[in-house]
Amino acid sequence: MMFSFESVSKNYKNTIALNNFSADLSEGVYALLGPNGAGKSTLMNIISGNINASSGKCLWNGQNIEDLGKKFLNILGYMPQQQNLYHNFTARQFLWYMAALKGLTRRQASDKIDFLLELTHLQKDAHKKLGTFSGGMRQRILIAQSLLNDPQMLILDEPTAGLDPMERVSIRNFISEISLSKIVIFATHVVSDIENIAKEIIFLKQGQLVLKDSPLNILQSM
Ligand code: ADP
Ligand code: ADP
Repeated sequence: MMFSFESVSKNYKNTIALNNFSADLSEGVYALLGPNGAGKSTLMNIISGNINASSGKCLWNGQNIEDLGKKFLNILGYMPQQQNLYHNFTARQFLWYMAALKGLTRRQASDKIDFLLELTHLQKDAHKKLGTFSGGMRQRILIAQSLLNDPQMLILDEPTAGLDPMERVSIRNFISEISLSKIVIFATHVVSDIENIAKEIIFLKQGQLVLKDSPLNILQSM
């Protein structure tokens, strides 16, 4: 599988949020790094169809994702930054709700939800309200919902934010495991998060691609 950006740009009135970005992504973890305002959110929003590029195109296995439309959204999983979680939903209710939004049948959802609660070690917390969840549990339920549709491509927006060191290690290992058969984009501010798991580092600055290479090559060129 291959996701390609071909000269993708995004302009707001006075800002070039993304400037002529091109890259090919295949299975593995791509760490998305860069200072605030570098264009990371813009890039992720373009992939997920939240915003349209001003120019250029994104291809999934050679097909324009705008032409694929809903089909591409079934290929994509998105783990947003933590905010407005449904505090009064239990973990299981939240996953049922998200499964319905994603168009899973009851049968598909039922099997998948049990599987994902187990995968994210939340079975015993399935009946607890999200409002009572710790930071780590919230991140895990957000990852679980991003996997409901068996995505081939996964966007993780700061999945380790607000976690303690132990929880960071556990999320990292988990992401490493699931990345074997997926294209994973992992946006973070924490460089130690992506040590050992990133296939490549994509570094953006002021909307431009500054660096795209494996961590080993980057170290060796220093
Ligand atoms: P990052 O996620 O790396 O912090 P963003 O993609 O959010 O960067 O932003 C890139 C640039 O585009 C910034 O200068 C930001 O202020 C600008 N920008 C992002 N969204 C909008 C918007 N909706 N309207 C105007 N400018 C925006
Ligand atoms: P992040 O924490 O991921 O860097 P930001 O705080 O930069 O995200 O942006 C959060 C949201 O606000 C994004 O959806 C982005 O498009 C929007 N945004 C960012 N900068 C601006 C701006 N200058 N004007 C309007 N909207 C913006």
